[in-house]
Amino acid sequence: TLLPAGSSACVEIDLDAIRDNVAELGRRAGSAEVMAVVKADAYGHGVLPAARAALAGGATWLGVAQLEEALRVRAAGIDAPLLSWLYPPGADLAGAVAADIDVTASAVWALDAIRAAADTTGRTARVQLKVDTGLLRNGAYGPDWTDLVAAAGRACAEGSIEVTGVWSHFVYADEPQHPTVRRQQERFEEAVRDLERAGIRPGLRHLANSAATLTNPAVHYDLVRPGLACYGLSPVPQLGGPSAYGLREAMRLTAALAGVKRVKAGEGVSYGHQYVTERETVLGLVPLGYADGVPRHGTNVGPLLVGGQRTRVAGRVCMDQLVVDLGPAYAGGAGDPVVVFGREADGEPTAQEWAEAIGTINYEIVTRVSGRLPRVHI
Ligand code: PLP
Repeated sequence: TLLPAGSSACVEIDLDAIRDNVAELGRRAGSAEVMAVVKADAYGHGVLPAARAALAGGATWLGVAQLEEALRVRAAGIDAPLLSWLYPPGADLAGAVAADIDVTASAVWALDAIRAAADTTGRTARVQLKVDTGLLRNGAYGPDWTDLVAAAGRACAEGSIEVTGVWSHFVYADEPQHPTVRRQQERFEEAVRDLERAGIRPGLRHLANSAATLTNPAVHYDLVRPGLACYGLSPVPQLGGPSAYGLREAMRLTAALAGVKRVKAGEGVSYGHQYVTERETVLGLVPLGYADGVPRHGTNVGPLLVGGQRTRVAGRVCMDQLVVDLGPAYAGGAGDPVVVFGREADGEPTAQEWAEAIGTINYEIVTRVSGRLPRVHI
């Protein structure tokens, strides 16, 4: 077991898997560059080690949502090209410009703030323009895009900014045949032409997240922007698991069994007695709960591997603990290895299985794993 001394549970992160997954994505991207998306603490994998592993795998860019995340990457001495896309009015854009972070402008107010930051720092700000092609999230939409292009043209002319890219994000990347995919692609190409008409070189054009990187080469453009697939999870589980795409899961949530008890038939287990033993059996105590990120909706359905044996959560997931029914013949005891999720190829339950068991997506299973658990990078 890789549990650090004194810990009853941990998150193992296989950095070679991240490196190899990114290399595989690079092969699939052909001539397009790879921006590894490392927002949300690299989907729970640890932003700094994951970013370094992704760069070792050939990523030439890193992408994060929040400016704070970008500044943290820079503060650690990682100087790879880095794009950030989400910040409120009043954010530290001067810090970002000074740190050579590409800042996304989705509106004229944002571009004005970036120009002001360029002024403060005496530098030309690197700006990527985000066009809303249909997700109706951030990105400039309709006439706001027209205004943003005009404002960007003026800012380029005055020398305060350089447009380093234009980008957008898919609604239905996981359904490559959906007509909205094609419509967004057309709008995106129109947006690129808008820039060219305004005399702006569009820089890097990018649209593809993991699903589009794996399933739709027509939208790779100059750069792909995968997150989930870097961590070895399939963005299109209905089409195939990680191994179908040459990927392997990087995260394993493990623990040591905290104890066992033999109980009679007809006993209720955990808060509210939501599980009742059908026969005499051995119950195991797993020192992980919803405060660690194990979903409470996993009550009675979440899969686990305990002492090499498949089982499920028995009764309610509590804050720090959960119980499993190991059957009457279980001969193990405290200290036995527990895997909540890990690698399908090793017969372990997966983040995808957990997602299906509780009605969510694999993204949520890995990103919700709590900061209180030690990360062991291997
Ligand atoms: N680009 C943007 C703007 C995102 O918000 C995300 C994540 O949701 C990604 C790329 C990466 O997406 P995925 O993890 O599906 O590859």
